[in-house]
Amino acid sequence: MIAVAIDGPAGAGKSTLARRLAKHKGFIYVDTGALYRAIGLKMIRNGVGCDDLSAVENLLANTELDIRFIDGEQVVMLDNENVNGLIRTPEVSMMASDCSALPVVRAFLLDMQRNLAKRNSVVMDGRDIGTVVLPDAKVKIFLTASAVARAERRYKELTEKGMKVDFDEVLKDIEQRDYNDSHRAIAPLKQADDAALVDTTELDLEESFELLLKTVNTLAEE
Ligand code: C5P
Repeated sequence: MIAVAIDGPAGAGKSTLARRLAKHKGFIYVDTGALYRAIGLKMIRNGVGCDDLSAVENLLANTELDIRFIDGEQVVMLDNENVNGLIRTPEVSMMASDCSALPVVRAFLLDMQRNLAKRNSVVMDGRDIGTVVLPDAKVKIFLTASAVARAERRYKELTEKGMKVDFDEVLKDIEQRDYNDSHRAIAPLKQADDAALVDTTELDLEESFELLLKTVNTLAEE
């Protein structure tokens, strides 16, 4: 089995590029952020906040989370419900970011992620894949872009979906999540020592993919 670990901040194009890379390589694409989002969704639905640790523990003890692959697409099943269409809202994004700082939440998801990589060749994206989840991955990428470039992309994506958003709000959201993700005590977002940096600030999607593929192939051959 081969593992490609792709980490980086929100909005760097990780999921689009990782999905495409997985298809190109014939690997399974695992979007680990979707797992944190599913937990965030369940917490919102149940009115459980991150500050109420025993309620979070209780909620996790009564949660069945599963990933399926349908036509190569990852489907997140939360308590037997397909929640793919419900986990991309700004509210869930923020809750996912908040709850991902809790050790109980990270521990809950760790084995699941490792087992997927044990059984399949994967392109797995997240924040701590190269540092914590798959520290022995052969290929590690840290994919990033400036906060403004990432906010511009996210703004375009949301407005194209017909959502009414304010650019400054989108940028503030990205900066807040960057701060949360890189300052938490457990598994913070940071580049693994042996990860290659891929910066897409000045690149369009096509150019980003070419650079990613070239970098992955070089690391895989080493
Ligand atoms: O990647 P995505 O934006 O969908 O992730 C949602 C949130 O889940 C992130 O803001 C981050 O806090 C958290 N996350 C994480 N570790 C991962 C993947 C995501 O902490 N491996």
